[in-house]
Amino acid sequence: MIRRFQFCLLFWAIACLTTVAGGQAPAPGPGSSTSVLLITVDTLRADRLGCYGGRRVETPAMDALAAEGARFEDALAQVPITLPSHAVILTGTYPMYNGVRDFTSHGIPPGISLLAEAFKRQGYQTAAFVSAFVLDSTWGFGRGFDTYDDHFDPRQFETRSPGNIQRRADETIDRLLAWLGNRGSGPEAGRPFFVWLHLYDPHSDYNPPEPFHTRYAGRLYDGEVAYTDSQLARLFAELQKRGLYDRALIVLVSDHGESLGEHGEDEHGFFVYNSTLHVPLIFKLPRGLAPPRVIPGPVGTIDVAPTLLDLLWLRDPIRQQFQGSSLASLILGRGMAANRPVYAETYYPFNSFGWSPLRSLTTLRYHFIEAPRPEIYDLAADPTETRDLYSQRRADAEALRNQLRDFERRYAAQVSAPKGPPLPPETLEKLKSLGYLAYSAPATASVPTSGLADPKDRLKVFKSILRATDLASQGRFAASDSLLASLTSEEPKLYLIPFMRGENASRRERWQDAEGSFLACLKLNPSFSQAVMGLARAYLALSKSEQAKAMLELALHQNPHNFLAYHGLGLVALREHNLEQARRNFLRAVEEKPNYAPSQQQLGIVLVEMQRYGEALGPLQRAAQLGLEDPVLANYLGTALANTGQPKEGISWYEKALKMKEDYTPARLNLAFAYLKMNDRTNASRQFQKVCQQNASLCQQYRQMFPP
Ligand SMILES: [Zn+2]
Repeated sequence: MIRRFQFCLLFWAIACLTTVAGGQAPAPGPGSSTSVLLITVDTLRADRLGCYGGRRVETPAMDALAAEGARFEDALAQVPITLPSHAVILTGTYPMYNGVRDFTSHGIPPGISLLAEAFKRQGYQTAAFVSAFVLDSTWGFGRGFDTYDDHFDPRQFETRSPGNIQRRADETIDRLLAWLGNRGSGPEAGRPFFVWLHLYDPHSDYNPPEPFHTRYAGRLYDGEVAYTDSQLARLFAELQKRGLYDRALIVLVSDHGESLGEHGEDEHGFFVYNSTLHVPLIFKLPRGLAPPRVIPGPVGTIDVAPTLLDLLWLRDPIRQQFQGSSLASLILGRGMAANRPVYAETYYPFNSFGWSPLRSLTTLRYHFIEAPRPEIYDLAADPTETRDLYSQRRADAEALRNQLRDFERRYAAQVSAPKGPPLPPETLEKLKSLGYLAYSAPATASVPTSGLADPKDRLKVFKSILRATDLASQGRFAASDSLLASLTSEEPKLYLIPFMRGENASRRERWQDAEGSFLACLKLNPSFSQAVMGLARAYLALSKSEQAKAMLELALHQNPHNFLAYHGLGLVALREHNLEQARRNFLRAVEEKPNYAPSQQQLGIVLVEMQRYGEALGPLQRAAQLGLEDPVLANYLGTALANTGQPKEGISWYEKALKMKEDYTPARLNLAFAYLKMNDRTNASRQFQKVCQQNASLCQQYRQMFPP
């Protein structure tokens, strides 16, 4: 249940070249001219695929991929949460090293290299097509990609929490195919590519399109998996048509599974059982390189990156960073079954609730979970982990606990999150006057190991919080608030409770209540940036510009890539009639997030107001291309065009604005002026008459210019 709360170095060289089989040199593989397609299907349980023994869901495309490739039977995610799990896959490092532990993290630190950067250095053309806002480029995943396609319908930003902003597989795959099509005719056609495709459909909410909705009625998660497979079938057929399928190295993996009620968890992220850790992992090599095989034994998604480089013989410096092991020898049939413990963790219970984090090690036989009440499962006898044997197998559990501690010592690193500019003294003063002193307390600097509640014992509270979120998303705010209030006495330190009350109040535009709730949240957790942003929004709505500014600067101090904070500072500057300051902030926002249409629109509007019409055209047109339909945008675009020698185009945009909002007088007046400029007095006068019908004072003001 992760979607709900998302909102919106020191290199440590380890044995990166050693294979699981123990230090053999990589066997001859596909070679460095092979194109690579890395597919991450979000939230995909391995047991739903036919090739993993599933019988209830049709997955012919993924099964066919497995039938031609190497399928790892016991692959495990290192974190059952989208953002950190993808950080593991795309950097080949553990969360304790790369610092991305959940969605409250600041994204990939600058000192950590990404797979795409390595491929780019090696001469590959690189492109990513992601389907969820939680993986958009602001988290730093865009580094190394020539193309990072993360466009989402801007209307979603108004109606959904950022965790639910997404696009369906058909749309993302269409974008990928269009990219491939353009590439085919361009100068890049001869170069190999590295493409990362991320599909989000199996993630909640489960709502597959027809015919899957009907066919899988009552088990819509399965329907989403089947729909995703049907889209992969379409992609693979297109690749075959273009002669790419057989030649490419295709990897399919998931970032985590879905609990679907097992262990009391509905979705993922809260626990670290196999229902959310066990994922499909398939490598399909170029045709003829190695026979298909099924490989047992625990491996991690952390092994994907080193395996890719090994298979392709790429000697890139990123290998120094890898903490996983290459599986190339196993894939090529030259290594023995994997037999090393695989690590997993979730810090979601800790970072969001203040309860104990969970860490685990999986071996061929056991799954050990370190918690205030530790657990150990015998996977051979009990693969669904229903019988905790901790009291019977204490010695085995102790041995695994020691291994876990060694492991954490070995792979941890001091990763400092990217910090923004230092706060100006006046901002610090302002924050102090707001009672906001500990402005940058790190949430996970050191993890206390004792005295924290076991997430198992807080499942009821957790589910109540999810219930409160559900109620809010149905618009039942009073019921949500009263449920949250009832939890406060039980969990007085749980900062999420006042945060959610602040969000509820914001959605009802009760800004004073929102202010109080967000302040209460920040008292409990001063580094919770979503509350900082929520408070800034409340201050903006309450016209407390100074306070809003202080909060937005604090948000930027916490995360210098926070484009929404730049956007907010732009709005504050607009309110203060400081056009130059507004322009600079909106420009920073679009530099950080070019696909965020509202910032493009605002930048264009400010430039028109500054009479820099030529410069305004770009951002305004970009906002329109991004799908923003707003009469204000159309009106300003008309003005920018009319003032850059394109009166006809200007007229057509004014007309579009009026089509969206017939009584939008500024556009009507501009239309009248545009006709006048073109010496079309009849139309100019006709439009001006309409202005007069709508607005007497404007009529009076401009009457002499439009003689009847
Ligand atoms: Zn995910």
